[in-house]
Amino acid sequence: MSLKFTNTLSKKKEDFITINPNQVKIYCCGVTVYDLCHLGHARSYLNWDVLRRFLIWKGFEVKFVQNFTDIDDKIIKRAKKEGCSTDELSERNIDEFHKDMDTLSILRPNSMPRATKCLHQIINFIEDLEEKNIAYSNNGDVYFSVDKHKSYGKLSGREIENQIDNAAGRLKINQEKSKKNSLDFALWKKSKSDEISYSSPWGKGRPGWHIECSAMVKQELGESIDIHLGGSDLIFPHHENEIAQSEACNGKELAKYWLHNGMVNVGGEKMSKSLGNFTTIRALLDEDISPMTLRFFVLQTNYRKPLDFTEEALKAASKGWERLNNCLAFGHIYKTKDQNINEINLDKPIKRSINSELDKNSFKLLSDFEKYMDDDLNTSGALSILFELSQPIRKFINLIKEKDINEINQDELNQVFKKWELLSELAGVLGLKVNLKQETPKNKLEIDTDKIEELINNRSLAKANKDFILADKIRNELKDMGIDLIDKPKGYTEWRRF
Ligand SMILES: [Zn+2]
Repeated sequence: MSLKFTNTLSKKKEDFITINPNQVKIYCCGVTVYDLCHLGHARSYLNWDVLRRFLIWKGFEVKFVQNFTDIDDKIIKRAKKEGCSTDELSERNIDEFHKDMDTLSILRPNSMPRATKCLHQIINFIEDLEEKNIAYSNNGDVYFSVDKHKSYGKLSGREIENQIDNAAGRLKINQEKSKKNSLDFALWKKSKSDEISYSSPWGKGRPGWHIECSAMVKQELGESIDIHLGGSDLIFPHHENEIAQSEACNGKELAKYWLHNGMVNVGGEKMSKSLGNFTTIRALLDEDISPMTLRFFVLQTNYRKPLDFTEEALKAASKGWERLNNCLAFGHIYKTKDQNINEINLDKPIKRSINSELDKNSFKLLSDFEKYMDDDLNTSGALSILFELSQPIRKFINLIKEKDINEINQDELNQVFKKWELLSELAGVLGLKVNLKQETPKNKLEIDTDKIEELINNRSLAKANKDFILADKIRNELKDMGIDLIDKPKGYTEWRRF
């Protein structure tokens, strides 16, 4: 089966064919940096991180660009309220954004342009539109003329006539007289005297939100890209206007595929500040929800569907992730300490499994995983494959609780390690990173390391005296304390919490 995505432009699931062989250019609408990121951002950027990882894993060369909107009414308002400059506010929230995204193991984009650093390109873009007679200026404002662009409405499926009727009402209320048509939108806005402003051929002002993305796509990726991403709330007017501006200016299709993620509900209701159920990523992670639990939870639902955050669902996800994490940790305890083994390598695609000799069952699971992901990123199907793959590992973990690992047949051990390697690789495609530290509730009592060391020494002595009954007794005593022992060569023993 070939890779397919549901394209908002055609409203159909389509085969994915890149513009240039093997290269994928992606643009994702970023955050307006006036506040901390919320669960809607987490959902969106986790989904697109998995898209990016999967394409890299499949061998595509991916260029991923995501912007920061650092010129906006909300930023101006918030900076005023906090008594700082808009630059200070933006800078601080950009730092916080990186912290949240790094915590969630979201790969950093290849480039992250900011509106304030692209003013030259934005102004050039507007001038081009004016020259082509698609934009007009009026007393310091510049507007895009919607009726000059025949395909306006092609993404959202809205018909211009209806739009004009609907907007006419609003226009009356707003008494916006500088627009020729009620649907025309601002490319450049004249600033009020006390607002931050930038020089332009139309006087002091600032760019509209939509033009920023059109200018940045062109600057960073060129006139046509493969995939444009965003939340479904951006389809209209933001993405519709981006298409209109870019296609009117460049005479080329802006993006072949438009992918949109569904919205987030909290406890069955739409998340919004006015409903008081607005949760930041930071606040959720402070409630003992681990970053990987959040990722696991998000991936249980198809990216296009609405996602409902409830306490019960998060608890269930936490248990599910814990089961998977135990299996992912297994090979790290007995084979390698390299925690990055299941991290995607951006320089070299990590489809390592293709070169390893897989048994029939593992090979089928690998191909089923890819089939699920090829089918418009069916991440819940992909997760089910991880659980299938982890079954024999879980059985083995239970077996070695009874026996010492050194008593296990070497061939059997190698087979389990191979399954673990495949499990690690596929978990890495979903960005599920193993956590070797037990995620314990904050109130859990601290462990007594002196006591543990003492018991380990006693066990080593018992083993040296060939008193295996006592050695096993001590091992069980430690197990009851939540401590797992790992016997290393030359009689050395390591321990960890399980
Ligand atoms: Zn955008």
